[in-house]
Amino acid sequence: MSHDNTAAPLVALTFDDGPNTTTTVEILNLLEEYHIPASFFLVGNNICETTAPVVKRTYNMGCELGNHSKTHSVMPEMTKEEIQAEIAYVSDKIREITGEAPRFFRPPYIAVNDTMYEAIDMPFICGAGCNDWDEKVSVKERVDTTLAQLKDGTIILLHDSEGNSQTVEALKILIPMLLEKGYRFVTVKELFECKGVAIRGDDTGLYTYV
Ligand SMILES: [Zn+2]
Repeated sequence: MSHDNTAAPLVALTFDDGPNTTTTVEILNLLEEYHIPASFFLVGNNICETTAPVVKRTYNMGCELGNHSKTHSVMPEMTKEEIQAEIAYVSDKIREITGEAPRFFRPPYIAVNDTMYEAIDMPFICGAGCNDWDEKVSVKERVDTTLAQLKDGTIILLHDSEGNSQTVEALKILIPMLLEKGYRFVTVKELFECKGVAIRGDDTGLYTYV
C-alpha cells in the first residue's frame, strides 16, 4: 500500500473476454500512459501463441490476471467436473505464461449456481457494468452509466473484446476524469487489501463494491 494518498477513493477497472492483440493492446497502452493498473479476466480459448506476449505484458505492467473460464459457456448448465476442467485450463495457461495463478474468477454472463460455488475455489467478482458488449451502447452512455455507479471501492466491469473500440474511447474520457476526481486505480486484489476485506476461495457472493 502506498504511504501517501491512503485516503483517496479507490476504483478497480476490470476487463473481460480478452486477451487479443488489438483492443487489449490499446487498453494496455492507455493504462501505461496513465501509469495505472487494471485487472483482466481471460477466456482460455483466447490464450494462444499470438496472444501469450500480451498476457505477459499485462502481468509485467503490474496488472492482475483473472479467470473467466475456458469456453465462456453458460456454466450453470455444466457438471461440477466440467466446471472444474474449464477453470483449471485457464489457471494453468496463466501460470505457464506468468508463473502466477489467478486469484479471482468472473462468471461468464454473471450466471452462477451452487455447483459453481462448490467447484470453484476462487472468489467470484462481479462489477458495475455499462453493457459495453453491445455495440449499440454509445461512448457517452458507457461513460455516463459508469459514472452513475461510481463510488469509493467500485469494481468497474468492461470488455476488451476484439473490436470494442467504443470502450477504448470511453476509457480515454473516464480515466482522466476519475484521476481528476482524486480516485486511485487499483487491482481487485489491492482493492480488497486496501479496504481490509478478507476474501476467501469458498466465499459465496458476487462482489461489485468493496
Ligand atoms: Zn465475458
